[in-house]
Amino acid sequence: MDQHAPAQADPHAEIRVEVRKLCAKFPGEYWRELDARRGYPTEFVNALTEAGWLAALIPEEYGGAGLPLSGAAAILEEIQASGCNGAACHAQMYIMGTILRHGSAAQKARYLPKIAAGELRLQAFGVTEPTSGTDTTSLRTTARREGEKYIVNGQKIWTSRAEHSDLMLLLARTTPRDQVAKKTEGLSTFIVDMREALGKGLTIRPIRTMMNHNSCEVFFDNMEVPAENLVGVEGKGFRYILDGMNAERLLIAAECIGDAKWFIEKARNYAKERVLFGRPIGANQGVQFPIARAYAQMRAAEAIVKEGLAKFERGEPCGEEANMGKMLAAEASWAAGEACVNTHGGFGFAEEYDIERKFRETRLYQVAPISTNLILSYIGEHVLGMPRSY
Ligand SMILES: Cc1cc2nc3c(=O)[nH]c(=O)nc-3n(C[C@H](O)[C@H](O)[C@H](O)COP(=O)(O)OP(=O)(O)OC[C@H]3O[C@@H](n4cnc5c(N)ncnc54)[C@H](O)[C@@H]3O)c2cc1C
Repeated sequence: MDQHAPAQADPHAEIRVEVRKLCAKFPGEYWRELDARRGYPTEFVNALTEAGWLAALIPEEYGGAGLPLSGAAAILEEIQASGCNGAACHAQMYIMGTILRHGSAAQKARYLPKIAAGELRLQAFGVTEPTSGTDTTSLRTTARREGEKYIVNGQKIWTSRAEHSDLMLLLARTTPRDQVAKKTEGLSTFIVDMREALGKGLTIRPIRTMMNHNSCEVFFDNMEVPAENLVGVEGKGFRYILDGMNAERLLIAAECIGDAKWFIEKARNYAKERVLFGRPIGANQGVQFPIARAYAQMRAAEAIVKEGLAKFERGEPCGEEANMGKMLAAEASWAAGEACVNTHGGFGFAEEYDIERKFRETRLYQVAPISTNLILSYIGEHVLGMPRSY
């Protein structure tokens, strides 16, 4: 596919080559076996950690690689384009940013070097709740200060990787909603050491999902969190979480672009090789056009994501590009998945081709971490200035 891309220097070309090499050690069989038993890709995550890729965004002074966001995007894109699944560990890249931007000097010194070295895993992000869902500021989990600790009660849902993480970044209400001027106030962010809390007020229950995502329900019953684990200022946590969302959306978009490239490559190759009625099926435009269309969609998404990454790195507002890029990339990967399944006919459904697995995995990104409707609502309201809907 790359031979069709316009010639331009890619500052992350070497990273791409190295990530591809690492991913080649984790072929389809590895992911299929895990998928069947909903297992966690521990060896893959360890290999990424040892190579330093998961510490890409941690500054060098804390032992990370100090790469710009586009470097992290290149890593995640290549993981997906190789047929692997970065969902097992991608959150560490963007959750860490909250500690980096809003944590105290002591928190940064305590956690970041260990995260960079792979001694601590920060993979769990506890925001979504079963009752409030997308309406985050209505969340019900509370954290009540008692002396030098907070007492946390409530429940989270879809806390991915909770069983495979040492730390969780938690959003909880510290001031009741009826006592704050704005519903976005009174929410606070905490670093929860799940190793200490498990069995002492913290319960984790896995949810079996359509794809292998290691997502969980998490229950807090008088769970104690040291007051020193509050990130930033009490009551300002929602702002801290919002601050990280553009980075998160751009990185997820990069993953979707990687998925789209994987599907397109597979579909293109098969369309050229599979001969029916005396000619390759790809000679039929009914087979060729959906693949070509998905390629065009992927390239359009890629261009917007690149623009978003560049703005992010220049410190400019990039909400428009981050949101549009995430939506377009998720739609492009889905279109590419559809084309790939159709091109393969019945074989698209056979597990050994990995297409059905990737198809299930990439579907998520139209719903999480933010659903397409909410992105459209952002564009309608914040970009086009139409009336607020919620
Ligand atoms: C596999 C998986 C992993 C996840 N991992 C995490 C994680 O690690 N941490 C975490 O905190 N969360 C996680 N999530 C949660 C995810 O972010 C939410 O599922 C997503 O934000 C949608 O929220 P919801 O499921 O509560 O749906 P709801 O909020 O109930 O929404 C249902 C539907 O209604 C639509 N809708 C809602 N409000 C509006 C509106 N005002 N206008 C138009 N449409 C609207 C939505 O678009 C959606 O289609 C994960 C989810 C899944 C499925």
